[in-house]
Amino acid sequence: MADAEKVFGKTFNCPICGNSFKNLTIRQGKARMDSTDIDLKVNYKDLEPLKYDIIQCPRCGYASLERYYERITAFQRKDILEEVSKNHKQDFEEKEEYTFDEALERYKSAFLTARVKNAHNSEMGLLCLKNGWLFRAYANSLEESEASKIKELRLRENAFLGNALNYLAKARATEHPPICGMDDVTLDCLLAGLCTELGKYDEAKRYMSNVLQNRSATKNVKDKILTMKEFMEEHVKEEKESAV
Ligand SMILES: [Zn+2]
Repeated sequence: MADAEKVFGKTFNCPICGNSFKNLTIRQGKARMDSTDIDLKVNYKDLEPLKYDIIQCPRCGYASLERYYERITAFQRKDILEEVSKNHKQDFEEKEEYTFDEALERYKSAFLTARVKNAHNSEMGLLCLKNGWLFRAYANSLEESEASKIKELRLRENAFLGNALNYLAKARATEHPPICGMDDVTLDCLLAGLCTELGKYDEAKRYMSNVLQNRSATKNVKDKILTMKEFMEEHVKEEKESAV
């Protein structure tokens, strides 16, 4: 089933220019969970919801994750009008779905907005994380014959996940939970997963033991950490063996 049957145009009001516009959004109940990667990225059957996570005003170019869309100060609005809207090429073409390349362009606009408004580490981290995962989903959607494109996407995924880790670790140290909607246990789980994915095993172990020692962590969460730990130990063993 194509994405077009799973999304609809939801109406948003732009807090920068006052424009009312429709943005493609996943219909309720259309995203069916399939599996979870080691860094907790959730995969859905025949759909990548990350493609629809950026809200963008077609008139002024203001773009962000829905969580942050309304949160804008008068100073940030002024900077966005000067540094984003002035250079924005208006595009009112209504799409039925987004390709990976179109979705990546929308993330680019969200990064531009985030930089101009001087976003917190948590918002930058969440953007990097989702963008990194989007590169992974894009790479996974390609045929093996597109090896060089896949390699390029994997490199970009890694770079974005590395940045996500830096920003989120800073957010953890300087902001108060909930951070990006996550409590401290959930954030430590995510950081443990990211470190595992990126091969930073010592750092991963620290976040894992934070979770295992946290009294508010549920059994389900602790089990997830134990799965990550097994995965990590397996990899360390393989790396040692291949080094011999
Ligand atoms: Zn606008």
